[in-house]
Parts: sequence; structure tokens; C-alpha cells
Amino acid sequence: MRPVPATDYLSGYPADLVAQVRQLIAQDKVAGLLRKKYPAPHDVRTDKALYDYVLQLKNEYLRNAGQLSKVMFDNKLQVLHNALGTHTTHSRVQGQNLKAKKEIRIASVFKETPPEFLRMIVVHELAHMKQREHDKAFYQLCMYMEPGYGQLEFDLRVYLSYLDAGGAALWPALPRCPLPSSPSSQ
Ligand SMILES: [Zn+2]
Repeated sequence: MRPVPATDYLSGYPADLVAQVRQLIAQDKVAGLLRKKYPAPHDVRTDKALYDYVLQLKNEYLRNAGQLSKVMFDNKLQVLHNALGTHTTHSRVQGQNLKAKKEIRIASVFKETPPEFLRMIVVHELAHMKQREHDKAFYQLCMYMEPGYGQLEFDLRVYLSYLDAGGAALWPALPRCPLPSSPSSQ
């Protein structure tokens, strides 16, 4: 693995913490740690399922934030550099005029993550319906929807750093099991 990742997903965190993560990546220990903490992937694979998922969270926490016109996984955001961005540029990367249209686009990389990471990014994007910048009010809104938000965003950034350093995806979608044949066809 490359010792220095191409994108610094961890900028903004304390240097000793970042050094620790870099070391874990270099020692090939990140995959085991993340899999242990987040054993299973979620099952939200289609835009329709994603829409239902987002709407449920929005109805629970942000009922008055306006109507969502569109929710989708976006392959163009699959490039990891755009998956989450950095604290300072992300609102431009994912935010520009999407906010006005009340669209939520989730990078396709989130199709193959544990439920906790999907919830984290959806909470993040929902919070942008009310708060454009990554300021204190924004993070308070994220924490209101998901009290573990801070840790989840950090763990996600660790995962993205691991992928960026050449690590294999940890929660790849398994091929769907064929449906058991119905009794009538036997
Ligand atoms: Zn953002």
C-alpha cells in the first residue's frame, strides 16, 4: 500500500490520531478493525430503496425542511475524492445548486458499506437541507439525527483513506441468491 494517500480524508483531525491511522493502514490492520466493528453491509441498493430510506429519516427529524425532489446514488461521485470531500470543500463538491433543487445524491461507494456509514452520509446530506456550511450548527443538526455522527464520520474517513491507499472494498455486494423455486414448479 502507498504510505501517503492521494487524498487527505483525515485533514482536520489531531496529528497524533492521523499518524495512528496511517500506521494501522501501513500495518494492514484497518480491514480487520473495521470489519469487527461493522460486520455487515446494509441492503439499500437501488435509488428507490435509497429514497425510502432517506424519506424515513427526513420524516423523523426534518419534517419541515421542504420537499425532496430526488434521491439517488450517483456513479459520478463514485470517485473517492468526491465521496465526502474535505471539511472545507465538500459543500461545493456535493452542494452546488443541488440544495436549491432539494436533491440528495449519494456517492455509489456507499452502496457497499455498513448501515452505519450509509446513515452517516444521509444524515450529513439531510443536514445540508438546512445548513449549507460545515459549521457548528450543521454538526449539531447531524448529532441530533445521529448521536454517534462524529465517530461515524471519522471511521468512514478511515475507510476512505484505507481504500485510497489501495485497500480492497470490505463490504462488497454479494450476488443475490436465486429465489428458491416455488413448490408449484417442482
Ligand atoms: Zn457536506
